[in-house]
Amino acid sequence: MGAGRYAPSPSGELHLGNLRTALLAWLFARSTGRDFLLRFEDLDRARAGAEELQLADLHAIGLDWDGPVVRQTERADGYLAAIAALREAGLLYECFCTRRDIAEAPSAPHAAPGAYPGTCRNLTEEQRAVRRAERPAAWRLRTDVVQYTITDVLHGDFTGLVDDFVVVRNDGVPAYNLAVVVDDALQGIDQVVRGDDLLPSTPRQAYLGTLLAGLRGSGGPALPQYAHVPLVLNGQGRRLAKRDGSVTLGQLREDGVSVERVRTVLLESAGLPGGSLDAALEAFDPALLPREPWVFTGFPTAWRGMQ
Ligand code: GLU
Repeated sequence: MGAGRYAPSPSGELHLGNLRTALLAWLFARSTGRDFLLRFEDLDRARAGAEELQLADLHAIGLDWDGPVVRQTERADGYLAAIAALREAGLLYECFCTRRDIAEAPSAPHAAPGAYPGTCRNLTEEQRAVRRAERPAAWRLRTDVVQYTITDVLHGDFTGLVDDFVVVRNDGVPAYNLAVVVDDALQGIDQVVRGDDLLPSTPRQAYLGTLLAGLRGSGGPALPQYAHVPLVLNGQGRRLAKRDGSVTLGQLREDGVSVERVRTVLLESAGLPGGSLDAALEAFDPALLPREPWVFTGFPTAWRGMQ
């Protein structure tokens, strides 16, 4: 039995888009007999009190999870071991580029748009020593491919850019793309369900995951099953955000919309029966999920106060 997961950043309250992804991740995991794990991705952004609010909301919409909730800031050992293994294998190099350096660098002929131009890839030791005195270095992965293909339950084969991406930021913090890959492997996660805004990062993560599995010499499937689910958009076609008004359980409750009503609407937006989570689980079939974003423009006033 493997595990699926939901991995929010504890940067504030969850909104309807986050809750919908969490519901789908839970349905994917439970409908395939997997454990369901929660992990706070708090390396970048964490706001005091956000974890408690998020857990309370996930619980309120009826989700359950297995084992202790983990947070990335408490998992340094795994990241450090992976970084050491990559460094020993000669797969990391220091990068001193600012964003501006990268934007202004002449890109190599045929380089994919958005790819790191390789400025620091072949610096000499002397050049590095000079640059180290100027600014702290980030560490980039020395890749030997320019793209990688992953298979996604909803998107099929997806080929995307793999450049020399950052694995350790220049403040010493492991980059998201490294942390997520290390955590998923160490936690035995073999199913990754998340918003499709992360689809373009997935080839990089899969490439790194395969590399790390090779260095560990671990057999077995290196890569999880991926399912990138459509986002929720606001009436202007932009990704739903808290500034869009009543989009958190807390705000909706104040408006008189019950949590059951919210869950029903979220499940129905995914083409599922909204009566109960059990009914949704029974009917769940990834092949039938909508492939288009769900546009949310507010709860009709008639629903207010309805149970
Ligand atoms: N922490 C990311 C988010 O909040 C999700 C990362 C993932 O699921 O891999 O969107």
